[in-house]
Amino acid sequence: LQNNASHGPPPKPAAGLPLPQAGGQKVNATFVTLARNSDTWDIARSIRQVEDRFNRKFHYDWVFLNDEPFDENFKKVTTALVSGTTKYGVIPKEHWSFPDWIDQNKAAKVREEMSEKKIIYGDSISYRHMCRYESGFFFRHQLMLDYDWYWRVEPGVEFFCDINEDPFKFMADNGKKYGFTISLYEYGDTIPTLWKTAKKFMDEHPQYVAEDNAIAFLSDDGGDTYNLCHFWSNFEIGNLNWLRSQAYIDYFNALDKDGGFFYERWGDAPVHSIAAGMMLKKDEIHFFNNIAYNHVPFTHCPTGEKLRLDLKCHCNPSDNFDWKGYSCTSRFFDAVGMKKPDGYEEEQ
Ligand code: GDP
Ligand code: MN
Repeated sequence: LQNNASHGPPPKPAAGLPLPQAGGQKVNATFVTLARNSDTWDIARSIRQVEDRFNRKFHYDWVFLNDEPFDENFKKVTTALVSGTTKYGVIPKEHWSFPDWIDQNKAAKVREEMSEKKIIYGDSISYRHMCRYESGFFFRHQLMLDYDWYWRVEPGVEFFCDINEDPFKFMADNGKKYGFTISLYEYGDTIPTLWKTAKKFMDEHPQYVAEDNAIAFLSDDGGDTYNLCHFWSNFEIGNLNWLRSQAYIDYFNALDKDGGFFYERWGDAPVHSIAAGMMLKKDEIHFFNNIAYNHVPFTHCPTGEKLRLDLKCHCNPSDNFDWKGYSCTSRFFDAVGMKKPDGYEEEQ
């Protein structure tokens, strides 16, 4: 029971708490967190907020993944906080190491150059393994195979409003595959050749390109160049079967062969976003205005005062990043032809 172990049956809702609403139907879903043992207290804070605002009424499971075994303290603290079943998985070595086609000297040289250029995480090997893992492997970890939907939660994130409606069920009922709260521009220096590589893949596999796609979110010139917009992947609610589809796996394998996870510093955010923008229909991508969220340094605080009051939000609306210059969310609304939420002009 050291690894990949579950802890305890899902507890019954305490007296007085409302039962899961909307017909009481739960979806086959889990929270998922990639973390180190040193993240124990930061993930504890995240879990506490998720539970207080949402999961204490729903009791969804929580899968924790790590490239090393979780220690007893991590498991004890997180199991005490989560109201669903907790599961702890170790990542197989082959999902967290250099593929044999990677030229180690070339990769080391890149890390040195990026370090000199002060590119964030430019010199880090583990950050690259992390980005590659989140891009191509977490959804096929053995513990994730039991589920259809995931909600990614990172250590140290915050949730500022009640989440009364089950976002998993919302996704399932409305034909959504990928959900986000914050979008922004990527550092170009971390992904010089990502767009070219993704575009080449799509040109070679036109059957994977959705007809009514959201490429307009990613490109201002019909797909020629990348405008660096991406969904911030430290928050994601998504469909695991989409990520496990032949289309997505072929896409990831093509990127992985190209080597940019190590010869550059491709992040899982642009990797997921480009896939979503090209392979999903635009109405399969959902912006959760009603889920208030912070990952340092950006906050999504819902637009619309009535909504914030109804959801008992404790975020300051002037911290909302959505309509500020470095956010891509305004572009998302334009690209998919959606009306911006009432009140957005006053909150710009
Ligand atoms: P940032 O948000 O881009 O600054 O990156 P983070 O440091 O937050 O890392 C992203 C996620 O991967 C977080 O959930 C981290 O806990 C996790 N993570 C990052 N590096 C490692 C690692 O070396 N091992 C493990 N197990 N998790 C990691
Ligand atoms: Mn983070």
